[in-house]
Amino acid sequence: MRASRSESDAPAVKDLVDKALSLKPAPAPLHHVQLLLNTRNLLAGYDLLADEATAPECLAAIAASDGQRAPRDCDEATLSLLREVREAVRDLLLAHANGLPPDHEVRERIRAAAAAVRLSVDLDPSGRPIAVPPDDSDGVHRIAAETLAAITSAEPDQLHRLKACVNPDCGWVFYDTSRSRSGTWCAMNVCGARHKMERYRSRRR
Ligand SMILES: [Zn+2]
Repeated sequence: MRASRSESDAPAVKDLVDKALSLKPAPAPLHHVQLLLNTRNLLAGYDLLADEATAPECLAAIAASDGQRAPRDCDEATLSLLREVREAVRDLLLAHANGLPPDHEVRERIRAAAAAVRLSVDLDPSGRPIAVPPDDSDGVHRIAAETLAAITSAEPDQLHRLKACVNPDCGWVFYDTSRSRSGTWCAMNVCGARHKMERYRSRRR
């Protein structure tokens, strides 16, 4: 059965959240990162965290995927923080796709985001240091903090396989399972084809 549709026949928010992991999904814990980052879809023209119209339902779906309650602190200030964390991480994942170390600006953005969500360091049961959200973090803050904690605790090889599409009109996050780890586009037949067409046109000119 299909989810109920609004009068404008726009896709349900829940369907769009599910779509985040429908293409080249990442393993845990990085699928949380992919889920948050793909709440924005430039090609399809939506951002589920842009305002309070769609954000509560979107964040409720994200929290539910982790067995958590829907956030109640979903105001413009917390949404703004979450969007900042989301785009800081996207910058890092874009560097992965370009095969380059992140530049100074990316580092500053990640550091500022980590400071804003008050991450601290703990040890996991095996004794490995991990970044953890503060005990009292709840709702939107917790989602922001856990996103940053996930990129810290992921295996380095897996982390480098999590990438943002290099098409500046896209930025969709995907997990690169190629042996050479050289994937740069979310989908070859979408962004890759577009890039090839542009190269072809510029050669013809
Ligand atoms: Zn793309």
